[in-house]
Amino acid sequence: MRYSQLLLKTTKESKQYDSINATYLIKGGFIDQTMAGVYSYLPLGLRVLTKIENIVREEMNAIGSEMLMPTLSPRSLWEQTKRTGIDILLEARGANETSLKKNDSSFIINPTHEELVTPIAQKMKPSYKDLPFAVYQIQTKFRNEARPKSGLMRGREFRMKDLYSFHASPEDLQEYYEKAKEVYMNVFRRVGLGDDTYIVKASGGDFTKDYSHEFQTACETGEDTIYIEENGEGWNKEVASDKVQATSVEYTATEVGNIFPLGTKYTEAFGYRFQDEDGQQKLVHMACYGIGTSRIMGVLVEKFHDERGILWPMSVAPYIVYLAELNGDDPTVHAQAETIYNTLTEAGVDVLYDDRKVSPGDKFSDADLLGIPYRLVVSKKTGDQIEVKRRGETDAELMSLDTCLEQITN
Ligand code: ATP
Ligand code: MG
Repeated sequence: MRYSQLLLKTTKESKQYDSINATYLIKGGFIDQTMAGVYSYLPLGLRVLTKIENIVREEMNAIGSEMLMPTLSPRSLWEQTKRTGIDILLEARGANETSLKKNDSSFIINPTHEELVTPIAQKMKPSYKDLPFAVYQIQTKFRNEARPKSGLMRGREFRMKDLYSFHASPEDLQEYYEKAKEVYMNVFRRVGLGDDTYIVKASGGDFTKDYSHEFQTACETGEDTIYIEENGEGWNKEVASDKVQATSVEYTATEVGNIFPLGTKYTEAFGYRFQDEDGQQKLVHMACYGIGTSRIMGVLVEKFHDERGILWPMSVAPYIVYLAELNGDDPTVHAQAETIYNTLTEAGVDVLYDDRKVSPGDKFSDADLLGIPYRLVVSKKTGDQIEVKRRGETDAELMSLDTCLEQITN
């Protein structure tokens, strides 16, 4: 991609937003704020989000199948589960008196999808032979958060992967639940958060009387406090009370995922029973599993940045190479930059080619702000070589295109 063709405008203004991720993502032209907690993903930001969501998708495909449920639902579904009172619900109303009088003129803008998925499952999977199964989606969720803040960390509108599993027995649910924990950790490893992400017990919230399990990433700017024991067991402070020991390590952390053994709460509300082998009607057991894909994007910036900008992990970087052509009006330099751009692109390397007529300083500061893993520079000074620098390192190295390609693709 040529910088000049991209909907991208970085800013050098010194304005600080309420969090590091908001500041760098807005200044870097990854996202644009519409109102508190509501953002557009600009082309660069969408590339990062898509890479995160594709990693989630690849991992979830091992334990479920993807579907897509609607954004709106009728209020009646939430009356059935007695959840019309939860404070995060956003409702949409018909715009005029006439439509308000109709029963269905009030809709819920879905914050989560138990109310949607359970009746679908009930319709399509009525027998013990159908169980177990799991479905997931990756989608925009809406919550009336009291204080949307911290950029992508807490939005009113945000991206989530939610998976739902259905089982004939609590034992079967438990076995799948443990498998899902492993798959979740694969996701956090692949996006670059593996070393700092812990599984902790937490409150089941309005979902379940059991504990839920949170995936908490240690992060100085997080909202949560967790305690990790020597044996790896962990607790959210909310439920830790007397379980915390002298040897526990305390972390400030952000919840990147949360899984809940729901049991029969929703299947009971909808009367989702299956006919067992012995002919008896039994309630289906259910669990739900969320990952905040846009929150992950925010957490990555909170954790991986320096005073100049972002340092994206390779697996989610919007581009792998930032190619800066200096002295671009010199035909030899320009031809060299074009050759590098074409060669790398053909080799499958995502290149952002800064072909603008701006100062070297502007190109270098953008390369740092945008956090692209490799910066390549060609100029009158570099001759037929390329100056290669890793983001986060201070020393650059001169090398041939062949060597450079080999380094990047290894
Ligand atoms: P929190 O405790 O942070 O409010 P939650 O427990 O209400 O989150 P879940 O219902 O468990 O959230 O949602 C699953 C995942 O979606 C969370 O683990 C989190 O990563 C993400 N998420 C939840 N709310 C938001 C939000 N307002 N903005 C961005 N991501 C969110
Ligand atoms: Mg949660």
